[in-house]
Amino acid sequence: MSEFSLIEKYFTRPAPTAVLGVGDDAALIAISPGINMAVSTDMLVAGTHFYPDADPFLLGRKTLAVNISDMAAMGAVPRWATLALSLPEENEAWLAKFSKGFFSMAESSGVELVGGDTTRGPLTLSVTIMGVVPLGQALRRDGARIGDEIWVSGKLGDAALALAHLQGKNRLEDADYQRVSSALHDPKPRVALGLALRSIAHSAIDVSDGLLADLGHILEQSRVGAEIHFDQLPVSECVQQFSAQAFGKRCVMAGGDDYELCFTAPVEMRARIQQISDELNLPLTIIGRIIRGNRGKVLAQDGTEIQLEKSGYDHFG
Ligand code: ADP
Ligand code: MG
Repeated sequence: MSEFSLIEKYFTRPAPTAVLGVGDDAALIAISPGINMAVSTDMLVAGTHFYPDADPFLLGRKTLAVNISDMAAMGAVPRWATLALSLPEENEAWLAKFSKGFFSMAESSGVELVGGDTTRGPLTLSVTIMGVVPLGQALRRDGARIGDEIWVSGKLGDAALALAHLQGKNRLEDADYQRVSSALHDPKPRVALGLALRSIAHSAIDVSDGLLADLGHILEQSRVGAEIHFDQLPVSECVQQFSAQAFGKRCVMAGGDDYELCFTAPVEMRARIQQISDELNLPLTIIGRIIRGNRGKVLAQDGTEIQLEKSGYDHFG
């Protein structure tokens, strides 16, 4: 059973008093007239999401960053978080660095830590984040329309390339590893972009499990298809070296941990989006188009379809 069929079967129930329940980057709850609260939980487990000996300062930053990324994907302003920790031992040196990293991300993003829970057990870091977004302005997964252009921020595949290096699957030169490692260890949630895209984008998601898997959620929930042009996908020079190989293609399209935003917008918004890209000094790239249908096709330069065995990370599939 895949992660998503498991959630669907056992944990998706009507939530009649919520504006939006299970299935998006965050739930939406009406907290006062005109304002919705966006709420989301993301957990990092040692051995699954990070190496137990990962730099605790960066791990603290990333624990919060991946949650803030879900706020960005909703076009919400991140405001409050709770932190649940399961720790194998009391290690003050580790906790000092982890908390310093966590608060460095919190302060630069305007997030206040307001609670949590601490227990002994296998190293697990879980955050619930809350943010706010004006009524009707959230960026959802179900709003893509036929004809929309599909955009992605930043570059794809650096984090997956860094991970493959650490796993010994694909060794990189030291200089190349240095270039891609910050994407894996210190992702930058795209909050300013999410806010700028309110009333511009029709749909959005953050790329946490891999571009195709995450875009797939937009397609499914919007009941549309997509055509992606592989040669238009934004990649760094390091990733480019591998993009002729199946391995490189997997890093770019199914690698995960990118924490970039993938969004769709009508063609008329193209100039406005390019302006946002300039203002934020963040590359925004058109990678394809929303079409009729129910699946995403990735096309090579010669128009043939590129097939991947897996579209992204699935914890159970
Ligand atoms: P994201 O990658 O944006 O964090 P996920 O892919 O992890 O989102 O989850 C997909 C959707 O399923 C989200 O709306 C999330 O809130 C919901 N979800 C995941 N696990 C559970 C659970 N155990 N109970 C209820 N909802 C869940
Ligand atoms: Mg998400």
